[in-house]
Amino acid sequence: MPSAHPRRREVAIGSVLIGGDNPVALQSMANTETTDVDATVAQIGRMAELGCDLARVSVPDKRSAEALRAIKPGISIPLIADIHFNPELALAAIEAGADKVRLNPGNISTRERIAPVAKELARRQIPVRVGVNAASISHDLKQLHRENPVKAVVESAHRYVEILQGFGVRDIVVALKSSDVLNTIECYRRFAAESDLPLHIGITEAGPGLTGAARSAVGIGILLAEGLGDTVRASLSGDVEDEIIVCREILASLGLREAPRLVACPTCARAEFDVATMADEIRTRVMTLSKPVSVAIMGCVVNGPGEAEHADLGIISVNGKFMVYRSGKVIDKGLDQAGALSALLSELESLEAER
Ligand code: SF4
Repeated sequence: MPSAHPRRREVAIGSVLIGGDNPVALQSMANTETTDVDATVAQIGRMAELGCDLARVSVPDKRSAEALRAIKPGISIPLIADIHFNPELALAAIEAGADKVRLNPGNISTRERIAPVAKELARRQIPVRVGVNAASISHDLKQLHRENPVKAVVESAHRYVEILQGFGVRDIVVALKSSDVLNTIECYRRFAAESDLPLHIGITEAGPGLTGAARSAVGIGILLAEGLGDTVRASLSGDVEDEIIVCREILASLGLREAPRLVACPTCARAEFDVATMADEIRTRVMTLSKPVSVAIMGCVVNGPGEAEHADLGIISVNGKFMVYRSGKVIDKGLDQAGALSALLSELESLEAER
């Protein structure tokens, strides 16, 4: 997507390249206990299946840092350690094999406390995210934050980057998140105009379910449409898998990623069956497809044939009987609802296998 800002510097996070001309990487964060290695590995496995490119885990103590050593061999995507308050934990996470660490300038803020971590990052050439969060801005910027929150967040990021670069750290990613959508957008715009470092974007603490999805879509969508964002996360309270689906939908809507697509009409008095229930029944199956297959569930003949013909698979109801479409052609008709659903699911399996 075209950008008026400087081209982003390329950074490797394990096997994933971001910045430059690389595709926007999708990131999410496990919500298991990091010390529960089996649960964390299983959750990251599901995240990867859904298209997550980078997994972050919280490292609140030494045992969690040590657990990274066991988690890493069990997963297929790079592992990022989220560090707050204690620089020793960053050193332990690096030692345990983290592909990247995230530091919060709000709680590891002085040059003296950053120094040992920065030296180790530089020595091993491990990337770091400077993850500024407006809710945990460093003490000396609090007054400025009250007067001008955007300036305070951008200033915090610049200061931290300068300290890290002073120790020779080269691979830096920056996030400037806030729970305020407009402030977040402005922070990224300003920082991006002044720096070529790659950006991790998102609306922090976006909220639960639909609220979080809507706020993330607005904030992330606007930034991506302006060509900003090299990694992306939708920070939703709730299911980690929902975070990934929301991010994927945002990226796919902007033509930045191929993803499975479920089209379903909103229904009205013309609807011949309960479209929402059927869409819900197949939603998880469609969203977990490994291939970018599109499926349309349509309530009547008004827009039904058009959407069903354009999708890879479609179902419409005409005069109480169901028709199933595949690749623009009717492949079955005169079915009842259960028969149509079962035909659709079996076509889904065969399409996924063929692609
Ligand atoms: S496709 Fe038919 S049922 Fe669905 S919203 Fe349009 S007119 Fe209503």
